[in-house]
Amino acid sequence: MTLLEVKNLKKYYEISQGLFKPKVVVKAVDNVSFSIKKGETFALVGESGCGKSTTGKTLLRLTGTTSGEILYKGKDLLALSAEKMRSLRAEMQMVFQDPYASLNPKMTIKQILMEPLRVHNKFQPEERLEKILKILEIVGLSKEHLDRHPNEFSGGQRQRIGIARAVILNPDFIVADEPVSALDVSVQSQVINLMLELQKEFGLTYLFISHDLSVVEHMTDRVAVMYLGKIVELVDTEELFANPKHPYTQALISAVPASHPKEVKERIVLKGDVPNPANPPSGCTFHTRCPFAMDICKSVVPALTEIESGHITSCHLYTNNKEEK
Ligand code: SF4
Repeated sequence: MTLLEVKNLKKYYEISQGLFKPKVVVKAVDNVSFSIKKGETFALVGESGCGKSTTGKTLLRLTGTTSGEILYKGKDLLALSAEKMRSLRAEMQMVFQDPYASLNPKMTIKQILMEPLRVHNKFQPEERLEKILKILEIVGLSKEHLDRHPNEFSGGQRQRIGIARAVILNPDFIVADEPVSALDVSVQSQVINLMLELQKEFGLTYLFISHDLSVVEHMTDRVAVMYLGKIVELVDTEELFANPKHPYTQALISAVPASHPKEVKERIVLKGDVPNPANPPSGCTFHTRCPFAMDICKSVVPALTEIESGHITSCHLYTNNKEEK
């Protein structure tokens, strides 16, 4: 069953180049479509600035949208009043990348976890403390932590508090934006395992945003790869790692460390940096870095096409256009 469907989502920004110069439009999210099934973990991956975090924020309406549709349980989120959206947010929560910045340093853990219950008027006031204690226990913290402030915890513990705050309202859907990238590697797997346990216990659906493909491989069911605001490949996680089609995905996967010492991996090093999104290359926006670029790639935008069952990508290598080289 589809929980969330995104259709032709666009988020453009106008940026000023200075006095007397025309503004330029940055297409942070450009015509993105995907759907997320109930109970699955759907990943958005790509380098910094590819539009994955902006996409996550638009889904919760934490930032505005230029156009497109976001259907959650069949409801068009962009058509909802601010008040209706506010009450729906209890079901749609976010876990942020930086557990240091996302918790108010002046509040105790009890206050941090009480606030969403109060704002959304969940449970009777006398039941709320019991709920907080239960959630703290689930995320591996305890009653003694209630009156402490965020600065008294380690990074991993703070992220556990961030996760507790997200799940305390019994949500159905969580956008997790780089939830482990600010943590030490030794703590990352504990937080990931916690998220997987919570998913099982509460039937959660995740949108998991990450640039770390080894975490994505372990944690997610399907993946959409983004480059300069567009999805360039979308497929089941297992298939993506076994059989990546888009040259950009191939390069990203080649950079994932080998999981076995005997596994030999050939790293594909891309030339140059990600182009300026205010002035993206013509045609396929990846052509300036692609090892397989053809003439057609410079002028014709490749369409997202299902090239194998359930495997979607946008690349002229897999279309008839290849012959026009
Ligand atoms: Fe490379 Fe061309 Fe495919 Fe773009 S369309 S990824 S430039 S081969």
